[in-house]
Parts: sequence; C-alpha cells; structure tokens
Amino acid sequence: MDNFKPKFTDVNTLGEFGLIEKLTENTVKYHTSTVKGIGDDAAVINYGDAYMVMSTDLLIEGIHFDLMYSPLKHLGYKAVVVNLSDIYAMNAVPTQITFSIAISSKFSVEALEELYLGINEACRIYNVDLIGGDTTSSTKGLSISVTAMGQVKKEKITYRSGAKVGDILCVTGDLGAAYLGLQILEREKQLYVSSPGIKPDLEDQKYLLERQLKPEARKDSIKYFEKEGIIPTAMIDVSDGLASDLMHICKASGVGAYVEEGKIPIKQEAELMAIKFRLDPATTALNGGEDYELLFTIDESDLEKIKYMPDVYIIGEITEKKEGLKLHTTGGNIHPLKAQGWNHFDEEATGQN
Ligand code: ADP
Ligand code: MG
Repeated sequence: MDNFKPKFTDVNTLGEFGLIEKLTENTVKYHTSTVKGIGDDAAVINYGDAYMVMSTDLLIEGIHFDLMYSPLKHLGYKAVVVNLSDIYAMNAVPTQITFSIAISSKFSVEALEELYLGINEACRIYNVDLIGGDTTSSTKGLSISVTAMGQVKKEKITYRSGAKVGDILCVTGDLGAAYLGLQILEREKQLYVSSPGIKPDLEDQKYLLERQLKPEARKDSIKYFEKEGIIPTAMIDVSDGLASDLMHICKASGVGAYVEEGKIPIKQEAELMAIKFRLDPATTALNGGEDYELLFTIDESDLEKIKYMPDVYIIGEITEKKEGLKLHTTGGNIHPLKAQGWNHFDEEATGQN
C-alpha cells in the first residue's frame, strides 16, 4: 500500500484532440435521436423533420482572451460568434444560445453590462435568441461558456466526413489576419507593460485588429448554398488554422488533399504585417487560426455554381488517402502539409504511418 503511486500522465502528452479521444472512448450513445455525438463542429440531434445541431465552447481569461486588450463588449460578441460559426459549419442556421459566466469580485455590474451589450449585438445581427445560461462566482478572473443551437433540413446537413476524391477544396474570406492582429496586440501589450507611458500604435491596423477582436461568422455563405442549391460534401470552420482544420476533414473523410500555396487568400495588410513580424505570410495563413472562415469541399459538378459565390476561393482538391496532405508551393515544389503541434494527427492524416 505504502508503495502505491497513482499513475500521472501529463495531459500535454496527448494534445487536445488526443485527450478528447481518450476521455470519450467509452462514451455510449443511448438514444437513436443522437445522430452525431462527439467529433464534428456540432452535435446533431434528430428533431422530427429537421436536425437540431448544438455546439459549446469554454473561454478562460488569460488563456483564450486577455482583458488588457479585449474590450468586454467585443468579448461578448466574439464568444457568441465563434459558436455560431460551428453551427454554420454544419450547413445549419443558428437559432438559440445559452451564455454562462463565472466571475470574480473584480468585475462590476457595469463591466458585465458591457459584456452583454456585445452578446445582444451578436444576437441581433445573427438573429438568435439568448435563452438562458448560468452565473457563478470564480476565485480568479472570468470564464465564459456558450452553447449554440441551430436547425438544418436533414438532407442538407454537412459533416466533416463527406469529402471524396476529386472534390474541390474551397475557403471563404481570407486567412491569417486574426493571428497577425493578435501578434500586434501582444506586441503593444509588452511595450505598454515595460513602459506604461507609451500610447499603443494601433491606428492603421484596423482590419487585422478587428479580425482578432471582433470576428464574424459566415452566415452569408450558408445563405448562398441554400439559394444556389449547393450542399458541400464536407465542411469545417477555420478555428485552429487551415492546415489543422483540413486535417480534420481528411481524417474524418478518409482522404488526402492538396492545397496550392498561391491560391491561399491573404489580404495585403496581412501579408505586409507578416513580413514585418518576419513570418512567412503563407505559414500564418496555414497555421494562424481564429479566422472563422468556412473550409469546405464540393462535388466537381458544382464548380460552375461556386464560381459566382462572393468571397470564395478554390484552393485545392481532395485526393486519395495514400497521397496524404500536400502543399503545392508557388515555387513548384510539393511538401507535406503539417499542422503545427499535433504530431499524432499529422502522421495519420498524411498517411505516413
Ligand atoms: P471545435 O474546434 O469545432 O469547437 P473541438 O476541437 O473543441 O471542436 O472539439 C472536437 C469534438 O470533441 C467536438 O465534437 C466536441 O463536442 C468534442 N469535445 C470536446 N471536448 C470534449 C469533452 N471534454 N467531452 C466530450 N466531448 C468533447
Ligand atoms: Mg469548429
């Protein structure tokens, strides 16, 4: 007994996705109404004629947001929007949210009212109802949990798992800007901390900062699909970065893919700022994250329809699983596409094991 030492495995050894897989490997589905549980942008529940989709996120001060540069109003707005993005990623329309907070005594009523101004603004713009939540105290800082619900006709639901060889790989909007916005905010914070008298130099970086502090979800894209009768074969929202999120599609669909570096949409502001930070613009677009654009695949036969979609870019194609994930560089080379950080995923998705 005295020698008994409980096993202690550091959670970092598995990575986020490995950890989720391990913790949920014994999860049992007791209801046939649970159409899709863990493993996509949102869960799918059979709701008679339609599917209800549901997604939840937890945001912790100091980890997911920094109140030194995130105004509470923007934070409330962003917390809602990033959840709605997961609903859109299922080709669904969001309808309700719940919003829960844990607050320490440093927060005033006025500060929390600011947070709710942002929440209400997001609800107005995205046409969703705030229907509940929970409020508790915390020993330190602010924690937020948002759950979003939405609806989709059964035949239109889009999983990560439907991509097939020959499908066209598309992304909405531009990539990398949110990450660069964060780099600017972090840089100015460091400067401010070391010399508080200095006024932050943020004036001419409105686009990059807005992409970080006040992102939008692609409700327009879902509307376009509906109008044009397009059902993507697979879809995910770009929260972790194009490379990592494409790997999720490839892993779930059992396919490979290539991305053409020259076709990755990067705004000029982002390109210039990346260079200023001595970063490769394409790498920031591939690995930056928090863009909340939609990465999706369509059948070849939908190519004509997609050509006229506003703000969409064709960036590659789905290939056989054995081809793995590849980047076709502007210089004409072919490299394995790696998502930074999640090694065990890389091996599986690039078919190297
Ligand atoms: P996203 O980036 O789209 O929000 P995540 O990477 O957070 O998705 O989660 C991937 C999948 O794992 C989702 O289906 C999510 O609901 C599920 N999941 C995440 N954390 C847990 C957990 N602690 N317990 C059960 N399921 C989880
Ligand atoms: Mg997602």
